[in-house]
Amino acid sequence: MIETKIKNTLRDVADFPKPGIMFKDITPILQDPVLCAEINEALLQQLQGLKIDAVAGIESRGFLFGMAMAQALGVPFVPVRKLGKLPHQTVQESYALEYGTATLEVHKDALSPGQQVLIHDDLLATGGTVVAASKLVHQLGAAVAGYSFLVSLDFLNGKKRLWPFSEQVFSLATF
Ligand code: AMP
Repeated sequence: MIETKIKNTLRDVADFPKPGIMFKDITPILQDPVLCAEINEALLQQLQGLKIDAVAGIESRGFLFGMAMAQALGVPFVPVRKLGKLPHQTVQESYALEYGTATLEVHKDALSPGQQVLIHDDLLATGGTVVAASKLVHQLGAAVAGYSFLVSLDFLNGKKRLWPFSEQVFSLATF
C-alpha cells in the first residue's frame, strides 16, 4: 500500500529546523525511483473527475511531484515561490508557518481568470502555506480545484483552514 511505503521511507528528523518540530524528510523517497513512479500514479488517481487547468507547486518540495503531475495532466505548471525569487511582475501573500513567517509570490501572468488550479505541496501542516497559495490563485481571478499532498499532519488541523477555498483535499499518507 502506498501509504505504508511512504511512511516506511520518510525520515523523521527531530528538532529540525527548530526545537519541537518533527521534520518529515522526503529525500529518502526521492532516492527510490520505483516508489516515486508509484507516487506519481497515486497522486493522479486521486484526481479523477476533477477539472484541472494548471498545477501550482509550492517552493521547493512542491515542485518535485507537482511538475510531474502537470506534465502527466498536460497542463501548465505554476511555481509558487518565496519572496524575491521570481524575476517578473508578481502578486504576493504573507503567511505564518509551523515555524516562522514568510511571503509567497506568483507571476501575475501565470494564471488566467476562471482557471481551475490544483495546489500541490509535499506536506500539509497547519495549512498556512497553502491558504496563502490559494489567496494568490484568487488574486489572479482563478479558482482552487483542490489540494494535493504526499503527507498530511492531520493533528495540526490544516484541512479545516482549506475548505473555504476548496473541499477537495488529497493526501497519500496521513499522521
Ligand atoms: P504549513 O503552512 O504549516 O501547512 O506548513 C507546510 C509547509 O512547511 C510545507 O511546505 C512543508 O514542506 C513545510 N513543513 C511544515 N512542517 C513540516 C514538517 N513537520 N516536516 C516537513 N515539512 C514541513
